[in-house]
Amino acid sequence: DVADLPGVPSWLPEHLQSAGIEALYPPQAEAVEAGVTRGENLVASIPTASGKTLIAQLAMLSAITDAAGASERERSDPETPPADGDGTALGGTALYIVPLRALASEKQAEFEEFEQYGLDVGVSTGNYESDGGWLADKDIVVATSEKVDSLVRNDAPWLDDLACVVSDEVHLVDDAERGPTLEVTLAKLRRINPDMQTVALSATIGNADVLAEWLDAELVDSDWRPISLKKGVHFGQALHLEDGSQSELPVRNSEKQTAAIVRDTLDDDGSTLVFVNSRRNAEAAAGRLASVTREALTPAEREQLADVAAEIRDVSDTETSDDLADAVADGAAFHHAGIASGHRELVEDAFRDRLLKVVSATPTLAAGVNTPSRRVVVRDWRRYDGTAGGMQPLSVLEVHQMMGRAGRPGLDPYGEAIIPAASHDELDELFDRYVWADPEPVQSKLAAEPALRTHLLATVASGFARSRDGLLEFLERTLYATQTDESGRLARVVDEVLGYLQRNDFLERDGEELSATSLGHTVSRLYLDPMSAAEIIDGLRSGGGSAANGDDASEEPAGFTTASDLADEAGGDEAKDPTAMGLYHLVARTPDMYELYLRSGDEEEYSQIAFEREAEFLGRMPSEFEDDRFEDWLAALKTARLLEDWASEVDEDEITDRYGVGPGDIRGKVESAQWLLGAAESLASELGLDAAPAIRRARTRVEHGVREELVDLAGVRGVGRKRARRLFDAGIESRADLRDAEKSVVLAALRGRAKTAENVLENAGHRDPSMDGIEPSEEVSYERS
Ligand code: ADP
Repeated sequence: DVADLPGVPSWLPEHLQSAGIEALYPPQAEAVEAGVTRGENLVASIPTASGKTLIAQLAMLSAITDAAGASERERSDPETPPADGDGTALGGTALYIVPLRALASEKQAEFEEFEQYGLDVGVSTGNYESDGGWLADKDIVVATSEKVDSLVRNDAPWLDDLACVVSDEVHLVDDAERGPTLEVTLAKLRRINPDMQTVALSATIGNADVLAEWLDAELVDSDWRPISLKKGVHFGQALHLEDGSQSELPVRNSEKQTAAIVRDTLDDDGSTLVFVNSRRNAEAAAGRLASVTREALTPAEREQLADVAAEIRDVSDTETSDDLADAVADGAAFHHAGIASGHRELVEDAFRDRLLKVVSATPTLAAGVNTPSRRVVVRDWRRYDGTAGGMQPLSVLEVHQMMGRAGRPGLDPYGEAIIPAASHDELDELFDRYVWADPEPVQSKLAAEPALRTHLLATVASGFARSRDGLLEFLERTLYATQTDESGRLARVVDEVLGYLQRNDFLERDGEELSATSLGHTVSRLYLDPMSAAEIIDGLRSGGGSAANGDDASEEPAGFTTASDLADEAGGDEAKDPTAMGLYHLVARTPDMYELYLRSGDEEEYSQIAFEREAEFLGRMPSEFEDDRFEDWLAALKTARLLEDWASEVDEDEITDRYGVGPGDIRGKVESAQWLLGAAESLASELGLDAAPAIRRARTRVEHGVREELVDLAGVRGVGRKRARRLFDAGIESRADLRDAEKSVVLAALRGRAKTAENVLENAGHRDPSMDGIEPSEEVSYERS
């Protein structure tokens, strides 16, 4: 009974009851018995949607209130009077680590419910260069593991005061790309705060006991679910479930299996979540399934969905937005990391409200966004994997996480998760591979060179180790060390990586002593992969490409940059400033920027651009005979050209078309470029190179998505790239112009939108932003004469 919870703030039981939570779920009760409200470390490995969040809340709330945290406070501040016993005074901060930014806002919203009891919640995901000082006063902080890693590197002082850290989706330590950061960060936080409580939440995995051993934690390992789940496979005209039952689920002529399942679920008034393996497939599936859901809508639903569709169009006017709105009006939607966050929320809400009957999603939705559904279809259980060459089956862990979204407690009698099989053999295979199978054990990926490159530098730079032996000792605290018997392997990779870091002047060695150079400190604080830093430094030092040929470069290329832009940027004869394209390409080829893939036909197009604009590139362009390197160069060029288009005011829609990406991807690239160019500027200053002003110009252009002449205007809040151009064409060329502008001119340039015009004028500091009595004038033309 939640009324009997030990060690939690006095207001919590009532709060939970008012949210309909009267009794703990069995795994939650086990966690309390294991001491989660008394400061014990805990690993909880339980299925999706079985109430992990409440376990985290119990841990955090008990840790930061004095009821349980008296010893914590005595340690940090012996002057404070003892706990007053009502369990509401606060001490220490709780940190909740999420694997994805999208989950940070979801968790933030959940924890903000506690603000009414005087708790302060903060969220921090972007900007990897600050120490997040403003977070110091928060009681609960939600952050991604990358952000926490960067806070450690920037010596955020409040990290010394952590009472509790929760790591959500901790099974992702298995992820080669991001796992090592989580692993090292947890090890560091535990070293800074030896008495801190550590709670790790995991999907069901094969070796939760190893995680518990690593974290010195009690273990709750359970497969209890609040609503039962039946897994199964659909083949032919029948659904085969794991309990041995078979029921008819007919597929009509010319209908796909997934459509048949969706229709069958609708007949029972239920909704379906369809998991597919790519964004494109998610969008295509939603379009197709809309024709099934359309038939089942009531007039009232149709009306409400039309409203949601209109809101979706309001978020942005792109093709993706249109496609989404069209599908939503018919009761279907898609969901993936490339859609705008406003879209994501609208879709999630409408699905929870049972307005949307089907959502086709990529697996990001399975990882923690709470959208239960009567049925789940895992349509694509294979995904393209470039390194393995071709389509590879997903892990059992991933498939089970998707399946776990089936069944809405209190609404459905049970959930069903179905994989469609194409043949009888596949039916058997899928039962063996996923229905009967147990999830794999997780395995540390730390001992790989790219991971160690960045983490060894950071570990030395922030003083966690001062010698090779110290480093090896620190690494003993990682999951890797818990898991391996082969001690020699780690030492070998460590030596290789230390060699690399010394050669690039990031670390120096004096006898046994190991320390970061000033450059090494900068690189670590900037949160750059040392290899990115080395690439940027090398590019900035070597300047323009080998075949420097200014004439070629100033000819108008196939891109959108005008000849005059280029001529300006290419400048005089001597020490030329790098062009925006040169800089975008430089940052696009670092390992910190995700590549855009080359599609068929791209290679030829980009080879041509590469030769036309060779003089602009910083550093040596690989020759065509260096196959892989040349291809990487072209892929980076594709990203660079996307950035250049964006910074030359090309329409968002045109960009999504031209590069085959979503608006969310443009945002992602722009943010990465902003961060990397900011880092490049710091490195240029640190090394005394004169490129810094050119880098800053390229960065502000990409930040606002405008040509140089608009940077000033676009920086005014509420203006943005399109409005800045309209104002400029109406003769208002700067923030100062805007401050003194004729109001009617501004109004006309903003197409008669009085509210917007007032807003913009106010943000620019206009004496009197009010539009009362001002009529848009016909005479003011939109074009500059
Ligand atoms: P997980 O994080 O494990 O995927 P959540 O923590 O999001 O799952 O919980 C899923 C749902 O169950 C939430 O809507 C939550 O409010 C509800 N829930 C959690 N614990 C209880 C409980 N003890 N009694 C009733 N509902 C609960």
